[in-house]
Parts: sequence; C-alpha cells; structure tokens
Amino acid sequence: MNFDINNLIRDNIKKLKPYSSARDEFKGEARVFLDANENSLGSPLTRWYNRYPDPLQWDLKKKIAGIKATQPENILLGNGSDECIDLLIRAFCEPQLDNIIICPPTYGMYEVYANINNVAYKAVPLTPAFQLDLEALEGAVDAATKMIFLCSPNNPTGNSLYREDVEMILNNFDGLVVVDEAYINFSRQRSYIKDLAEYPNLVILQTFSKAWGLAALRLGMTIASTEIISVLNKIKPPYNINQSTQELAMKALDNLDGVNTMIQELVTERENLAKAFSELSFVEKVYPSDANFILVKVPDANGLYNFLVEKGIIVRNRSSVLLCVGCLRITIGTEAENRELVEQVKTFAASTV
Ligand SMILES: *Cc1c(COP(=O)(O)O)cnc(C)c1O
Repeated sequence: MNFDINNLIRDNIKKLKPYSSARDEFKGEARVFLDANENSLGSPLTRWYNRYPDPLQWDLKKKIAGIKATQPENILLGNGSDECIDLLIRAFCEPQLDNIIICPPTYGMYEVYANINNVAYKAVPLTPAFQLDLEALEGAVDAATKMIFLCSPNNPTGNSLYREDVEMILNNFDGLVVVDEAYINFSRQRSYIKDLAEYPNLVILQTFSKAWGLAALRLGMTIASTEIISVLNKIKPPYNINQSTQELAMKALDNLDGVNTMIQELVTERENLAKAFSELSFVEKVYPSDANFILVKVPDANGLYNFLVEKGIIVRNRSSVLLCVGCLRITIGTEAENRELVEQVKTFAASTV
C-alpha cells in the first residue's frame, strides 16, 4: 500500500486557483453587506432569500457530523450524491488517460459520469452471488486506475458486499475506493464511516434521497479524509446547496426519531413482501435485500412488468441487465401498496398458467 493523494489529483486541479466568492473573502459579522450584488431590498419570499447561502454549509454539516459520528471537515455536500460522483471523477481522473472500475450490475451513474467526463471505465462484473470478484479486480487495475466504485448495499441487487472483500481492496489499492452507502440505513451492516481513520483511500457516499425521504431536496454527501474533501471543495460550484435545501435539511435532522420509525416500518414491509413473493410458486427467486427494494426473478419479467403498468403499478424492469435476466426491482411501498402489488402479481400468475 503506497497511497499518496498527491499522485491522484489531476494536475490542472492541483494548479487551479478556485473562484473566491464574496462570502469567501469576508466571513465575519457585519451590518451592511454591499459585496455580492444581491438585492438589498429583500425578496418576494422570506427576507433572507435575497442573500447567497453559506458556500460550505457549516451549520448543516455540523448537525450531520453529530449524527454520523464524523467531523464537518470530513463532509462535502452535493446536489444529490450524483454531484458527489461527478466531482470525484473530475478531481481525480484525467480525461482519456485515467480510468475507473465499476462492478455491474450496479448503479448506472458511475458509468454515466465517467462517460460525461470522457474517462474510461472498466467493468468487472460481480459474481453470480452478486459479490466482488477479487481476482478479476486485481487483473483489471492498472497504473491509470484512479478509483474503484463499490455499492453496498448494491443497487439493483439489494445485497451488501462482504466486508472482508472491501477491506482487501482498501488495503491493496493505491487509488480511491468509493463505497456508495445510499441504502445503508436499511441494512444491518455498519457504515464504513467508522473505518475512515484507518483508510486514507476510503471515500463514502450517502444520500438524503432514500431512508431520509428527501429525494426532492437533492442532497447527498461525500465523507472522506480532510485532504480528499479539500480537493473537492476546491472544484465544487460555490453555492451548490441552496438555502432552502440547507434550511429544510436542518429541520429534517431534528426529526431523527421519525426517520428511524419509517426505516423500521420499511424493513418490516420488505420482509413481508419478500415472504409474500417467495410463497408464490411462479416466482423463481427473491434475492435477499439490505435495501428498501427487493429484486425478484420471474419467468416472464417483461410480461409481468407490462401487466403491472396496465394496472397503474410501476416497478423497475431490470431483465436486460447483466446477471439480472428475468428480474424486476421492486421498491417497498406502503402496506396497502404492497398488498395491492401482490394481489396483481397473483392475478398475472393465474392468467398465465
Ligand atoms: C438512489 C441512489 C443514489 C442517490 O442519488 P441522489 O443523487 O443522492 O438522489 C446514489 N447511489 C445509489 C446506488 C442509489 O441507488
């Protein structure tokens, strides 16, 4: 292991003089702010919306850090974790020279942002049990591999990756290991946040879009060493998290109990739905899930998908995805929604025999 962040940062980013906003140049308390060309009279909304928001979102990050057992300096907030993925690739991967590794079937945005940034990606498929193929990964890494994206619990398969495998990569790969924990709150696995002190190459992604129920706010986070976070802060758009998102997220963080109650309910519903599906003889397989969805294998995935669409129920058809042939990914709904879904699947099964 020979990790040095300076070997990873793109040259132009190392040399970059970041934009210095009015709020960067004056940070103290004052009575009169005439430095940012804001509308001094106010706004049609609440008065403070005329002012630019805190570019580094310190109040919000302090509150998040308290809940996540980390420090505000170890957090970068993004306009969804999708922005976090984009910033990572842009900071560390030289277009047309460097590459990233992804492990399909997995979240599609790693590949999309590699493509947008003209960065090559190597696909090292998961094993049929949806675990990492360590030998293939070792073979795929080359001198230009800057980043390996791991998703645990994985989308669309729902399972968590084996911790020993992730640790093996963290211990042996000199680039960044990005662990996407979008679904961690639905899992019994512990977050890798606790391992940050041990691994300078570890980067964790989390989001407010799933367990927190705030997909509309567009708020995601990167949690990593202060060295890595500083590089990302240098290149992020100055005001990437808007004021209303910052305020609403602060409010949401005061209701941790409510969120935990929803998580418990969704996990219970997930187990009920998995059981209901596994009791249908027509269902070939229900994959174990640590997330707020289940992956099920059926004989006629396209037929069932279209049947459900006709009934007004939309699931995700993953049957053309590698290792997911014949599979539908079903988000856990409310109890009533899940009951209706199972009834419709039963009707479909009866109509096809
Ligand atoms: C849903 C999801 C995200 C969340 O993206 P946001 O931009 O934060 O909404 C990130 N990673 C994975 C694997 C997901 O499934």
